[in-house]
Amino acid sequence: MKASPEAQLRLLELADLDTELARLDHRRQTLPETAELEALTARLTQVRDTITLADTELSDLDREQARAERDVDQVRVRIDRDRERLDAGKVSNARELESLQSEVASLRRRQSDLEEIVLEIMERREAAAARRDAAAAERASLEEQRAAVAARRDAALAEIEEEAAKAGSARTSVAAGVPADLLALYDKLRAQLRGVGAAMLRRGRCEGCHVALSTGDLNAIRAAAPDEVVRCEECRRILVRTGESGL
Ligand SMILES: [Zn+2]
Repeated sequence: MKASPEAQLRLLELADLDTELARLDHRRQTLPETAELEALTARLTQVRDTITLADTELSDLDREQARAERDVDQVRVRIDRDRERLDAGKVSNARELESLQSEVASLRRRQSDLEEIVLEIMERREAAAARRDAAAAERASLEEQRAAVAARRDAALAEIEEEAAKAGSARTSVAAGVPADLLALYDKLRAQLRGVGAAMLRRGRCEGCHVALSTGDLNAIRAAAPDEVVRCEECRRILVRTGESGL
């Protein structure tokens, strides 16, 4: 293949721009904010689950407490009724009196047990409410952090997009100055090598694969016409000759 030395030099500009575009693409895909957001979102899911569990526990305990308080009230009503009968002196039969007094005593024990249960439920409720409040506070803080990280990520992405747009339009105008067949070869090599399709020959070394050319290869390049497109024998990239090539 033949191409003017000027067209060949443009391949080096193209290679620089492709390197820049690849660097930006890599940066876009490895933004630390992306990993940070994933971690925050995972923690947020856990915290939301904790809140849901605590809410369920709280409403269960509310029901339990209401039931226990109703039980206490019922016992109290029965005690009051019994006491009224005793105080009114309506019970004269000694055995009936004894049985009523023993019922009152047993109801009082029952009342005290039930009040103990209510207190225990209230303590459990307090602990669940504290867990829920702590989780809600953590959720608020996580949401705040997530918004801040998302804003940082968006700003970084916008900056990358701007640089990529600049490099992309520079590439388009440089590519316009490269003959179609040379550009097609460059792009084919770029795709194959997953990088750039051309490299400078600098001091006898290919800048693409960093391998020093053999004396025989260097002699062949010395003998080649300036418009001959030469290739690296090692990596197959187009080797572009400049004043620094050491020929
Ligand atoms: Zn090479």
